Amino acid sequence: MSKYNRILLKLSGEALSSPEHTIDPTTLSDVVGIIKSALTSNVEVAIVVGGGNIFRGAGLAESGMNRITGDHMGMLATVINALAIADACTRSDIDAIVMSGFPIGGGVCDPADHNLAKKHLSEGKVVIFSAGTGSPCFTTDTGAALRGIEIDADIIFKATKVDGVYSDDPLINQDAIRYDSLTFDEAIEKNLKVMDMTAFTLCKDHGLKICVFSMLENPNTLSDILNGAPLGTMVG
Ligand code: UDP
Repeated sequence: MSKYNRILLKLSGEALSSPEHTIDPTTLSDVVGIIKSALTSNVEVAIVVGGGNIFRGAGLAESGMNRITGDHMGMLATVINALAIADACTRSDIDAIVMSGFPIGGGVCDPADHNLAKKHLSEGKVVIFSAGTGSPCFTTDTGAALRGIEIDADIIFKATKVDGVYSDDPLINQDAIRYDSLTFDEAIEKNLKVMDMTAFTLCKDHGLKICVFSMLENPNTLSDILNGAPLGTMVG
């Protein structure tokens, strides 16, 4: 029995990709396995997905492309990822609804609506929020913080390639120290990159905890944490 009732899982676009595929079918089914194990722990699951595997608006300065247009493209990339996750869920008999931060017609997905999302979640459906905040100049981490607050999530689980928050990049610096838990203030004092500052400040102001965990090592990590295992780094 998990102490959490409703979680928001933040998946970056990279978490869905592989060197061979922009959206990798095997990785996608791993993600569905992670979602299924959380649902089996009787936890409601909302997802905010990134788009970095397809397009990122940030960092376009040197290409000359208009940043706002780039961000619109980046947000549309997240919609593509969300549709792929929902489709993979449906194929595994998990009901999934895609919502977008800006309206998209044509039956592609629903507009983001926190009340409707909470209703779907309480019925055991997975709600996948796409298009981040729906506005340019933000990130999907900020989208995760915003949607997490809107739906009264108990915690954000941020899936990464490493097993928690480190004092430095552990893939580069072998002496980097891993933290089991941190307060919001400790993370700020130590200048640790848990999320970008806008997202982090939103979480801090609303007391929304963040758990950074690895989805690479073991597909059961999230459900293990939900069931009390001291894995990942808890921030809050
Ligand atoms: N984006 C945006 N507003 C948002 C969220 C995302 O404009 O609220 C755009 C931005 O261009 C970003 C891209 O969408 O580079 C993909 O999002 P992000 O980089 O956060 O994805 P991730 O790194 O998680 O894959």
